[in-house]
Amino acid sequence: MMSIKIFPIPAFDDNYIWILHNDEYAVVVDPGSSAPVDQYLAAHNLTLTHILITHHHWDHVNGLESLQADWGCQVFAPKDDRIPGDLAYVQEHDSIQLPELDINFKVIETPGHTLSHICYFNDAWLFCGDTLFSIGCGRMFEGQPAQYLNSLEKIRKLPPNLQVYCTHEYTLSNLEFALHIEPENQGLQKLKKTVTAKRKMNQPSLPVLLQQELCLNPFLRTNDPELKNALNQYLNKTITSPIDCFADLRQAKDQF
Ligand SMILES: [Zn+2]
Repeated sequence: MMSIKIFPIPAFDDNYIWILHNDEYAVVVDPGSSAPVDQYLAAHNLTLTHILITHHHWDHVNGLESLQADWGCQVFAPKDDRIPGDLAYVQEHDSIQLPELDINFKVIETPGHTLSHICYFNDAWLFCGDTLFSIGCGRMFEGQPAQYLNSLEKIRKLPPNLQVYCTHEYTLSNLEFALHIEPENQGLQKLKKTVTAKRKMNQPSLPVLLQQELCLNPFLRTNDPELKNALNQYLNKTITSPIDCFADLRQAKDQF
């Protein structure tokens, strides 16, 4: 895996289409648009061999049919009729092989943002679509709080040294919300400085280490008494369970 390079191809306002390549073959994750991927492949003289899809939203799948028509590449996706293309369906515990890059991924099902959302991970990387963002998580469009929390629990159990590749540049706005709930959190304060500097230079804030998210992301800290106390103060109520903590946090973020 040492020879694999991973870059974000910016798309739309704040999407990243992640491309993994070895200077010859390439794989993309969630191509919501084909044009920027075509440009990148041409500029770097790469052959597209596979596409990974995390969920059905248009900004993650709209480029896939054009890319598949041009390259005849295999597309891995969750079983969901809303995803176009000729798909190889994958589900929890499946392993997928990408022989041209000599890498493989395992699949976890993470319903919450959408019901059929999946993530891909191996020993080094997690491609989590819109399930997890740095210091945030996706909007709960289709799932229920207990279900989404269970999905985040699966991510919490992955090795903390994974690099997390989220598909939106939302980190700064997520930090604004997190610091609104926990203004005294020094880890969040420090991260905001780092991310602000990166964004001023137009650098992505991603990927991030899963360990950082375990320490700072409020949506991964629904067991953390400090977060629970801060949220209780913010909402002027007494939250008892992690599920309520997650549900209230998600709702507060939606209204922020
Ligand atoms: Zn989405």
